[in-house]
Amino acid sequence: MSAVRYTVRGVVQGVGFRPFVYRLARRLGLSGRVVNSDEGVLIDVAGPQEALETFERSLRDEAPPLARIDAVERGPSSFEGDDFVIAASERTGEAVTLICPDVAVCDECAAEFEDPDDRRFHYPFINCTNCGPRYSIIQGTPYDRPATSMAVFEMCPDCRAEYEDPMDRRFHAQPNACPVCGPGLTLVVPWPAGGPAELLTGRRYVRLPERFDALGPADAARRLLRLGAIVGVKGLGGFHLAANALDAETVRALREKKDRPAKPFALMCRSLEAARAVAEATPEEEALLASPWAPIVLLRKRSEPEVRLPESIAPRNAYVGVMLPYTPVHRLLFEDGLEHLIMTSANPPGEPIVADLDEARERLPGVTRTFLDHDRGVVNRNDDSVTFIEAGRVMLGRRSRGYAPYPIDVPWPTADVFAAGTELKATFTFLTSGRAYVSPHLGDLDNRATLDLYEETVTRFRRWFRVEPDVIAHDLHPDYLATRFAEELSDREGLPLTGVQHHHAHTAAVMAENGFEGRVLGLALDGTGYGTDGTIWGCEFLDCGLAAFDRAGHLGTVQLPGGDTAIRHPYRVALAHLHAAGVEDLGAVATELFPMVPENERDLVVQQTEKSVGAVRTSSAGRLFDAVSAIAGVCHEISYEAQAAIEFESLVGERAGRTYPIEFTEDGVLVVDPGPIVRGALEDRRAGVEPSTIAAVFHATVVRFCAEAAERLAAARDLDSVALSGGVFQNRFLLRELIAALEERGLTPLVHRDVPTNDGGVSLGQAVVASDRARAGRLQRG
Ligand SMILES: [Zn+2]
Ligand SMILES: [Zn+2]
Ligand SMILES: [Zn+2]
Repeated sequence: MSAVRYTVRGVVQGVGFRPFVYRLARRLGLSGRVVNSDEGVLIDVAGPQEALETFERSLRDEAPPLARIDAVERGPSSFEGDDFVIAASERTGEAVTLICPDVAVCDECAAEFEDPDDRRFHYPFINCTNCGPRYSIIQGTPYDRPATSMAVFEMCPDCRAEYEDPMDRRFHAQPNACPVCGPGLTLVVPWPAGGPAELLTGRRYVRLPERFDALGPADAARRLLRLGAIVGVKGLGGFHLAANALDAETVRALREKKDRPAKPFALMCRSLEAARAVAEATPEEEALLASPWAPIVLLRKRSEPEVRLPESIAPRNAYVGVMLPYTPVHRLLFEDGLEHLIMTSANPPGEPIVADLDEARERLPGVTRTFLDHDRGVVNRNDDSVTFIEAGRVMLGRRSRGYAPYPIDVPWPTADVFAAGTELKATFTFLTSGRAYVSPHLGDLDNRATLDLYEETVTRFRRWFRVEPDVIAHDLHPDYLATRFAEELSDREGLPLTGVQHHHAHTAAVMAENGFEGRVLGLALDGTGYGTDGTIWGCEFLDCGLAAFDRAGHLGTVQLPGGDTAIRHPYRVALAHLHAAGVEDLGAVATELFPMVPENERDLVVQQTEKSVGAVRTSSAGRLFDAVSAIAGVCHEISYEAQAAIEFESLVGERAGRTYPIEFTEDGVLVVDPGPIVRGALEDRRAGVEPSTIAAVFHATVVRFCAEAAERLAAARDLDSVALSGGVFQNRFLLRELIAALEERGLTPLVHRDVPTNDGGVSLGQAVVASDRARAGRLQRG
């Protein structure tokens, strides 16, 4: 007989870890105790040596699905006794506990949910230690029911018995509830009791079925959805707007009401079979859809779908975002026949997702007055995460539900940092003890609502994860609200500030995620990022270390009149590029290519372009995609970010057998001349070449100039790894082909793993850059 103490660190609280330890010890005939503490889970076990060895192995091998074990430390124990017990939580003071993200309903709960004899049959808030809400309901740590929005519900005797039984799947399941004691649904409809039995759905009135009042809230909501209504549905981290995806008229009404003419809507499909009916899914994509994190997965639309969706769901897009019902509430919407729902986050563009009914009414007036509400509070808003799988890699487009606030490990010594992030797709990061706590996607930081959520979430993260920053990192753009927030925080607390160039941060994030501490060639293909020379960068070849970088190469700079305004009008970007490319008689070219633009507007833009009025100088890759997309006749005006590039990519079919001419100039810095590319596209357009061919040739051109420039710079600077980052790498053709082209040239491509390739990943990069500078003593007090 001997006794051992194990300290288990990682995500081990609120995930059924203690009952798992209890059952394991019982099975092996060991005595001892298990307790939650601030340092993790502490286990004392006593018994024969062989059983102890099996115990230690099984701690990792058989751990519950949601547990993430970072370390198991073994030490001496003075435990004596013959029983095994789960002891009360201990607070020792210092270390932080991790917070589990929200988890989709597990198979066991799903089976109970479908069982008419179960006491939770069709109960919309069924959960257990393996599933259910976590991050979205947490107010404070340690994670206990009184510190969640479940505190107001007192457990009934049946639920309490489960909660207190270590052998039960619901032992210490903090959100445990049932129809007797837990939260419930309410249908909020825009008419008084006994009022008119007609409802405005989309743009028409429908007569409600007989005895509609007698239906339960979920049944009634489902009935309304089938009739074509738009229903606000409260789920885990906030509200969605739900609508029948097969009803083209409702989809059109939703677009008009949300003022969202073209940006794709996400679909929720009843099952994998229902998803397969509309989209192609590989086994890896299906596994991701059905994973506990249940993100939106961008799937290729089927060319011969079994179920034909209206084109307006994701217009001129080769992909459609699909997710499965991840809460029991959602499952209720798919009873009897409904298979495909639009589920789009309820929020004004760029703002945070709406969290409660009052807010939904206030911030989304005129979209719907019909809501399926419930009374379990959303403490932390949490949008759906967006993922895609390309070149065998899972990539994130948006990191939120299911992923945040898991920390990302940074495998080298770190300083304590707050990194403020950037403007669009804002996130912030707290870095401490080798762990980066990246906030969930918060929205675009150009409005009050996002700024409020940003400030509130900063305060919470700081408290939960107990970070006292040594340094504050920010983007170089002086007008970003995140930059101003960083400056104010620095003033208030007397902390040093360090500015991190946008694409250096993009690259450093890739380095951190891949544990790559050396020098790397950062290839950032992006929309907009403030450069060290005051121009807007966005197609950059950076010789990067963690603390510093050298701009080794870039796309040639053009003058873009009107700056940010031009971004919404790709035809203006096209004219700027054509002008820079030396194309003569711009007025005539504008009339030829863009006859749909009103003549007076066109003339004005031509004049501004020729005189470079109010011009911003940019080397952006995103703008080159805009320009060529417009020249090819694909997209000349946009209503959402990157629309021209997305529609252009969607036209690419086969690999092109040629490229446009590629010319480099080398003068200390390698510059790719965009002129020959733009002129090549113009010639093709004039020759009547199909837009899909121009798209294919252009994509091949970008792949080639990136790969050739990378090869030259890597050789000249003795580098062998290329880190790919920036929003343009959401272009899957480009990502896939460039990875292959780099590998063909003997270079090692590094891509994102845990944070998005768009600006949602920038705060992580800022944090690791600032950390390295702080550790090298390269900071001055603010
Ligand atoms: Zn469960
Ligand atoms: Zn109960
Ligand atoms: Zn960026």
